[in-house]
Amino acid sequence: MNIYGLTYEELEDYFVNIGSKKFHGSQLFSWLYEKRIKSYDEITNIKKELINNISSNYGIDRLKIVSVEKDVDVCKYLFELNDLEHIEAVLMRHDYGNSVCVSSQVGCNMGCKFCESGRRKKVRNLETYEMVLQILQIEEELGERISHVVVMGIGEPFDNYDNLIKFIKIINHPKGLAIGARHITVSTCGVVPKIKEFGNLSMQVNLAISLHAPNNTIRDRLMPINKVYPLDVLIPCLKEYIKKTNRRLTFEYILLNGINDTEECAIELSNLIKGMNAYVNLIPYNETNNLKFMRSNTVQIMRFYDILKKNRVNVTIRREFGSKISAACGQLRSKKEELWNLFI
Ligand code: SAH
Repeated sequence: MNIYGLTYEELEDYFVNIGSKKFHGSQLFSWLYEKRIKSYDEITNIKKELINNISSNYGIDRLKIVSVEKDVDVCKYLFELNDLEHIEAVLMRHDYGNSVCVSSQVGCNMGCKFCESGRRKKVRNLETYEMVLQILQIEEELGERISHVVVMGIGEPFDNYDNLIKFIKIINHPKGLAIGARHITVSTCGVVPKIKEFGNLSMQVNLAISLHAPNNTIRDRLMPINKVYPLDVLIPCLKEYIKKTNRRLTFEYILLNGINDTEECAIELSNLIKGMNAYVNLIPYNETNNLKFMRSNTVQIMRFYDILKKNRVNVTIRREFGSKISAACGQLRSKKEELWNLFI
């Protein structure tokens, strides 16, 4: 167990449960996230015996950063976990701040046909601390604050729900990494029961849905999850989510040449989400070794965009990061293997 997996409240409870005072939780949290200690020995205001108690149960080690690849506005970090598995996180520099894309699992079981990072089956969920440390350590390495977090790296965050929620609580806490809830985005392929649970939490966190198709026929072909939670189940659940949370939803839609980028698709998509408090983020596909899918050309992307606009759908086109260093969405795994090969 690692100390970076405990929420503020859990740390307070820990001290209460060993017969001590709640406020030590707050003190320790501040040593971890404000003062950024690397060892329990640096703590000066909590009794040695209490520190010995907690340190015998919770390690304070960081992850190993095995490599950093830098480009102008993007940086990719490869981390080694205690069991020697590897995960990646990507830093993106925007004019509004630094954003980090974190991984939530080792591998992924969702099996989306176009996605490279899912080609390795899920090995395990990431522990909360393994998610928190991706951000904490990038901040330290960079010497700059991370203001935004997107859970869009390897893995399906709603397949690791409990650890995800604890992770959000820690990075959002004013005495933790203090990343505003509105600056945190969780992306899911559409795990309906978890979307419902997430909606009931009344957090101000953003939710993004990987939609990628305007009907079940196309979505079934691209995303196996659609067979479990088809659009006629997913869309009403999202409408309910918006009603309950009063938050605007993001739909991610990768444009795949000849598959989901036709004018009919654009019209169908407009009708599907008409009237919802949502916007569509059109994603130019990052081509991978998987030759079945190709990126739509710019004319097609613009035509798709225009049809949505004309139908009064809020729409943006995603700025592309990291294509040079394969840090782009869905490409983490393939590049990881190349890096991995360097080490074996
Ligand atoms: N499992 C979650 C989060 C990880 S994927 C989800 O499905 O949302 C993050 C986003 O990257 C998803 O929208 C995914 O569909 C997209 N993506 C995957 N491969 C891609 C590629 N090659 N090019 C562009 N986007 C991709």
